[in-house]
Amino acid sequence: MKVPNLTIRTLSVFIWCTGFLVNCSSVRTIDFETPVDTSNRQISLQFKRVHFEETLNIFVDNTFDGARLNGIEKLNDSTVKAIILPENEPINHSPYYAFQVWSQKPQKIYVSLDYPKGYKHRYPPKIKKQAKEWESLDSTKIHRLDSLVTLELFLDDEPLTIAAQELQTSTHVKDWYQKLLTDNPYAESFIYGRSKMGRELPVLDIYIEEKKSKPIVVLLTRQHPPEVTGFLAFKAFLETILDGSELSKAFLDQYRVLAFPILNPDGVDLGHWRHNVGGVDTNRDWAKYRQPEIRQTVDFIEEQLKKDKAKVVLGLDFHSTYKDVFYTNTSLGNVSIPHFETEWFAALEANIPGYKVNRSPGNSSKPVSKGWFLKRHRAVGITYEIGDNTPRERIRTIGRVSAQEMMKILRSNTNLN
Ligand SMILES: [Zn+2]
Repeated sequence: MKVPNLTIRTLSVFIWCTGFLVNCSSVRTIDFETPVDTSNRQISLQFKRVHFEETLNIFVDNTFDGARLNGIEKLNDSTVKAIILPENEPINHSPYYAFQVWSQKPQKIYVSLDYPKGYKHRYPPKIKKQAKEWESLDSTKIHRLDSLVTLELFLDDEPLTIAAQELQTSTHVKDWYQKLLTDNPYAESFIYGRSKMGRELPVLDIYIEEKKSKPIVVLLTRQHPPEVTGFLAFKAFLETILDGSELSKAFLDQYRVLAFPILNPDGVDLGHWRHNVGGVDTNRDWAKYRQPEIRQTVDFIEEQLKKDKAKVVLGLDFHSTYKDVFYTNTSLGNVSIPHFETEWFAALEANIPGYKVNRSPGNSSKPVSKGWFLKRHRAVGITYEIGDNTPRERIRTIGRVSAQEMMKILRSNTNLN
């Protein structure tokens, strides 16, 4: 078929524009010492089903959000193997698992967690019966033989959820922030974008009265799906900012907070070990913004800064690792609040009984959010890590006190206003 030249040209412009809108951010990209290719990579999805092991008379289910179970296999008359695989490789050593199990008759069953060769067990199991709270599985019920971890479980017909960490899916996150914002005059939530699979990317926008020109504090979390303890600290942190105290009101009178409670909702709901649906560690994408979750987050932040003639002064990104640690930037030249870290860490030690701050400075050579805050905005950027096994009550205290002390320090910093 003969197509007029003009049509071809129009068509190619259209394709080019569409590609531009889909793949590019209008925001300036940033160079890091060690670039990381964050182009899409293939992932494997779990096959969702309720497995029935007839001879053992047990059901094993991975059909819920946040589940991770890639198959089961009977090992002997009392033991079943739960096969746990990552979404793709290479990937960090953070084998995440979550499934439900029950039996038609009361019985003791052993479940062995089977990770691919070379991956070490990281998360001690948490268990939950439907109407009850999460609890840790008693350590006497966890049997270890070399790298194999086997759980001793008493089952009946009520499903028992077993998970690497307490489930905090996109639905839990939404329920939490909607409740937090109910009748709160200082905050509102927006859906500023969608993940690759169409899940909501929410932001909580918090300030009193006028937002124009107010310096901005950015809070991020859940780039890495299993890092639930970091999210628990984020929750306590935000609940403190919104507690209606005199301190909170005075702080929100001077500052605006943009809080992003779930940056990787697909990864969270699909039970990923670390990546998004693009098969990428989103906390390596803060240079070129190739993944839609990061691109839209960056675009949203930059748009607010432009519209409201504001600047970011502090960025905290909540994660989890083996212990509590604050990863900071070494170079703090030209940041608006160079004294912040020293004062904040001293205040944490003074106000949390028995607490010793573990500070690990280093400039990000790879494109992580803390480096982006520094390089792009001359803002203090901190990766706020909570230990996987830090007691949950302790996490609440750390989250609450760190918010209070941040507000006190920033409030007294009048140069910015
Ligand atoms: Zn992380």
